[in-house]
Amino acid sequence: MSYVIPTPFPTVVPIIDSNDTFPVRRVYCIGRNYADHAIEMGHDPEKEPPFFFQKNPDNINPTGNFPYPSQSQDVHYEVELVVALKSGGVDISPDKAMEHIYGYAIGLDMTRRDLQAHMKKMGRPWEIGKAFEQSAPIGPLHPVETVGNLSSGSIALTVNGEPKQQGDLNQMIWKIPEMIAYLSQYYELAAGDLIMTGTPAGVGSIHVGDVMFATIEGLGTLEVQVI
Ligand code: MN
Repeated sequence: MSYVIPTPFPTVVPIIDSNDTFPVRRVYCIGRNYADHAIEMGHDPEKEPPFFFQKNPDNINPTGNFPYPSQSQDVHYEVELVVALKSGGVDISPDKAMEHIYGYAIGLDMTRRDLQAHMKKMGRPWEIGKAFEQSAPIGPLHPVETVGNLSSGSIALTVNGEPKQQGDLNQMIWKIPEMIAYLSQYYELAAGDLIMTGTPAGVGSIHVGDVMFATIEGLGTLEVQVI
């Protein structure tokens, strides 16, 4: 038996200091997970149930370049801690959740903000604003055994050297084990899943030629050029 079309190229994330790679299965993203970002987007940061959307696995972009996407005049950066799962399941309890983590990376949840805002206003899905080509720049994965688990530490982003976003991982409204537990009530999580854990305040627009530096304490810096 053979495939009738060429098989899709597998999307992989490099592992730091290794020739090995991490194959991506799904990409879950949480919305409004830092209070100051919820406020800047016009929402009440009170702890309401979390909500998630997905990007496509092949939107993951480890190239260091971000091609300015079509059909938008207002593309925003969002620096986020990315959690990579080595195993999964359903109805995972928060106290078992951390056992499923392979490692961590720096990611950018690039957003066509104008399209997202239009869809929000119409009460329609956000997908067109979030899940587009190359929309998830990502740095190499750092295995848990080398960096430990991350629950606090600086998360920041600069554009052309200018500070734009600055926060601390400890400001997450929904913590990593809570996110894993919650997602596993609605989906079967599995090895290869990535979770983008939300962004602190300071999101804004980028333009062709801009260079973004995203930094998370313990994970180094991800440099991405807008092309
Ligand atoms: Mn985001």
